[in-house]
Amino acid sequence: MISTRALACRYPGGVQLAFPDVNVPQGGTLVLRGPSGSGKSSWLALAAGLMAPASGEIVVAGQCLGALGPVQRDAWRARHVGFLPQRLYLSEALTVADNLALVYYAAGLPVDRAAVQAALQTLGVDGLAARRPAALSGGQAQRVALARTVLLAPRVILADEPTASLDDAAAQDALDLLQAAAQRHGATLVIATHDARVVQALPQAQQLALQAGGGS
Ligand code: ADP
Ligand code: MG
Repeated sequence: MISTRALACRYPGGVQLAFPDVNVPQGGTLVLRGPSGSGKSSWLALAAGLMAPASGEIVVAGQCLGALGPVQRDAWRARHVGFLPQRLYLSEALTVADNLALVYYAAGLPVDRAAVQAALQTLGVDGLAARRPAALSGGQAQRVALARTVLLAPRVILADEPTASLDDAAAQDALDLLQAAAQRHGATLVIATHDARVVQALPQAQQLALQAGGGS
């Protein structure tokens, strides 16, 4: 679940964003809509505990994030949040399998090689485990990044513009994979997007519309 109340954030330099309240039940799907610059990535950063709110409250999977200090927030995120960033941030220095293994280091857990292989297999890319990211197609890289996102069975999956720069078929594929992953883990799914195709493809999903110029 994700629940916010009078949530706002502030960047150094003065940009302030205020967000409408939202309540998403555990296992629900939220489409976070709005034009570029409306605060979608900022909202995701708040939900991931990457940024502390300037005011208001956000509770994610039962945890009030304002109650955590920076070190606790990092530990909490590593264990409970699956973040699929807009840029995938796969390390070119590591194989696909070792990119996934990094998730365990971040969470302070022993690496489970069998689970890495199983996660890749679920997304149909286990044959690519020994490759470097540079040797993947765009669609393969996104599947690898999604396998990394859901490796520790997160309570919440946050995806930032997962269909940007994809053609219609690949965009539908990405949405299907995200929904299947969320369902498999009983995770709450948030998709931040300015892509009208996402709204059309997810008519059942709850929506939070952000306005140009910031938040509410
Ligand atoms: P979106 O993801 O909807 O495009 P963002 O959350 O990235 O929107 O940005 C919302 C607003 O916050 C924009 O006005 C942007 O310029 C500003 N902003 C984002 N990141 C920073 C930052 N690190 N420092 C200052 N302003 C920022
Ligand atoms: Mg953004």
